[in-house]
Amino acid sequence: MLIHQEQRLQTFSNFLTMSKNPFHVMIVPTLGCPSNCAYCWSSDEHSPVMKKETIDAVATWLQDAWDGPVTFTFHGGEPLLAGYDFFSYALPLLAERFSEVQAEFAIQTNLWLMTPELAELFAAYHIPIGSSIDGPEDITDSQRGRGYFERTMQGYQISREKGLSVRFICTFTSRSIAHKEEIVSFFAEHGFPLKLHPALPSMKSDTPSEWALEPTEYGDLLSYLLDVQLLHLDEMTIMNIHDLCRSVFTGYGSVCTYADCMGYTFAIGPDGSIYPCYRFIGMPAFVMGSVHDVPKPTREDLMNSAAGRVLDSFREVVDRSCQGCRHISSCRGGCPYNAIVPTDGKMEGVDPYCEAYKRIFDEIRDRLDTELYAPKKRSKREQRKSVDGIQGLVQRLQ
Ligand code: SF4
Ligand code: SF4
Repeated sequence: MLIHQEQRLQTFSNFLTMSKNPFHVMIVPTLGCPSNCAYCWSSDEHSPVMKKETIDAVATWLQDAWDGPVTFTFHGGEPLLAGYDFFSYALPLLAERFSEVQAEFAIQTNLWLMTPELAELFAAYHIPIGSSIDGPEDITDSQRGRGYFERTMQGYQISREKGLSVRFICTFTSRSIAHKEEIVSFFAEHGFPLKLHPALPSMKSDTPSEWALEPTEYGDLLSYLLDVQLLHLDEMTIMNIHDLCRSVFTGYGSVCTYADCMGYTFAIGPDGSIYPCYRFIGMPAFVMGSVHDVPKPTREDLMNSAAGRVLDSFREVVDRSCQGCRHISSCRGGCPYNAIVPTDGKMEGVDPYCEAYKRIFDEIRDRLDTELYAPKKRSKREQRKSVDGIQGLVQRLQ
């Protein structure tokens, strides 16, 4: 019986491991944003908007730099500020130039500027929409500004009418964490999958921790969400818990925080500058090159830039600092951007949220081990609480 179970899980594990390391290019058409969320450090009202020739240069640069699968994510600021003209130029161009590798697209937007015309265009390219609300209207507006929730929901309606899939990221801050039950119930009642984003310190802020969750708070929150997810396997989806279980199960991080992102993720700013990730956009010290450079920078050129070398050293830091941690292959030291925030850009340690990661990986792994190897050790309460357990969740993963 046990062998049968393990074989079944192993087959599933192989299936999940197949989707490793596509190239991820984040295109940031502008850092401008019509909203003014209190904890956001990534908008800049004076930011230019990307020109069409920069999109041409992105395509030419990438065709030389990479020949594997690629995902383009439009990010901001608020990318819809670039307008219909920009997207109706960029999408066919990129889809056509990367047709052999079947480029995929995604967008992260607050949806305020969504129009039926834009939604139709995004539907034609099967673009999943990531948007953001922080729970019910009063909690969302208290963090993101009055009227935010209503405007985002208007964009949501337009998107759904055109058949787009919309998922919301929910940012938990040091203030909203006190309302976690209410927030989770809101997502469950509306049938929205929940993707948790912890408010994190930023190098762009003078008060980097004002809204950020402490590592202990983040660990507590993940542990709480694991309980909720296991209790309501068929009623709601908490995407972070799915991703974490997938990582434990496959031994390979399936979202960037737990994967080896450096060298596979790049972000292009509005002027064509290339950065390691959207979180660095607008920081001159982290420009690795430009899509307008002649000759165009190769992947090796970018990783040999000063910024590239700092980020690339994360691997060594992880191998040294996380040596002996049983989660090293599923976690890979967390996010390299988070790692350099406390040291003002120097790579001296791993992600300070290690404590939270270790706690949730421990909980998932211990529960899975108990289910597989000592099912009788599960207390009656535990068996009642999670009828299907981690294995049941893993079998539901898509
Ligand atoms: S730096 Fe952090 S946020 Fe950016 S891709 Fe890497 S893990 Fe993700
Ligand atoms: S949990 Fe902590 S020690 Fe373990 S791999 Fe992740 S960052 Fe490193």
